[in-house]
Amino acid sequence: MGIYVVTGSASGIGHAVAERLRADGHKVIGVDLADAEVIADLSGPEGRQHAISAVLGAAGGTLDGAVMAAGVGPGGPVSRARLVAEVNFFGVIDLLEAWRPTLAAGRGAKVVVISSNSATTTPLVPGRTVRALLKRDAGRAFRSLRLLGPGATSIMYAASKLAVGRWIRRTAVRADWADEGVRLNGLAPGAVLTPLLQSQLEDPKQRAAVRAFPIPVREFGSPDKIADWATFMLGDAANSLCGSILTVDGGTDAFFRADDWPAKVPLRQLGGYLRAFRAGPKVRRNSKGT
Ligand code: NAD
Repeated sequence: MGIYVVTGSASGIGHAVAERLRADGHKVIGVDLADAEVIADLSGPEGRQHAISAVLGAAGGTLDGAVMAAGVGPGGPVSRARLVAEVNFFGVIDLLEAWRPTLAAGRGAKVVVISSNSATTTPLVPGRTVRALLKRDAGRAFRSLRLLGPGATSIMYAASKLAVGRWIRRTAVRADWADEGVRLNGLAPGAVLTPLLQSQLEDPKQRAAVRAFPIPVREFGSPDKIADWATFMLGDAANSLCGSILTVDGGTDAFFRADDWPAKVPLRQLGGYLRAFRAGPKVRRNSKGT
């Protein structure tokens, strides 16, 4: 049986994932603000460092996987935008970068980051905000949105999920992840009926926006079903899943962006492809020699 870390394990999607893993006989190291094996506040560097060390201590040298589900939702005053960036972006990447060697020490570790379809369905997310996050500059990311007023937290929410998705896709294919057997992927739900969505539905300003958002299957997702996808992505079926962001959102993303797929391959990637082609095949045979 494996050892898994689940952030946000006390509620919603993270809780459903942790329960599923425990029911399957795995050891779960939950990380949350309360009701978890590791109590840590991921909104600042000290809390994140505590989470990193405490999880490594509890893991005892090996981690078979991680599900990163801690997160805060959009809404609230502009000052909250900084919190959204700290938890949803840095609360994922700081931890995973520190845990990478321990994940690599396991055999075929899998990581699932809970992103959101907000990354692909929110209009007018400034590129400079996403770039600032990817450059690890939370202050600049926050300043880039400050003048938007109350809308800033929703835009930061989308920016944090977009940045985490880009980080996943850039990082998963690097040799120190892919060659080390660690599979890093994302799961992008739409509206899922958890306490996070419930608080949006209880806020009159956010309720109308949530209710008006098109969901072709006409129902909210459930944390249990998202946990099914996440745990599937922790299994051997994900051996070839590398840098993918799986959208499970009742059709919202397809509704908005039916023809926006696939995007063109950027020309700047062509040089890397030609160099790899000249260097010859790199695909290793599997254990069956095929
Ligand atoms: P939730 O509020 O039920 O659970 C989130 C958990 O994260 C809570 O237990 C909370 O205590 C924890 N958390 C928040 N701030 C933290 C901090 N500073 N330090 C440590 N833990 C902290 O929400 P959920 O709906 O289960 O959300 C899980 C993830 O799914 C989030 O990343 C969210 O953005 C994403 N998501 C949710 C929905 C949805 O509609 N519910 C949709 C798309 C994506």
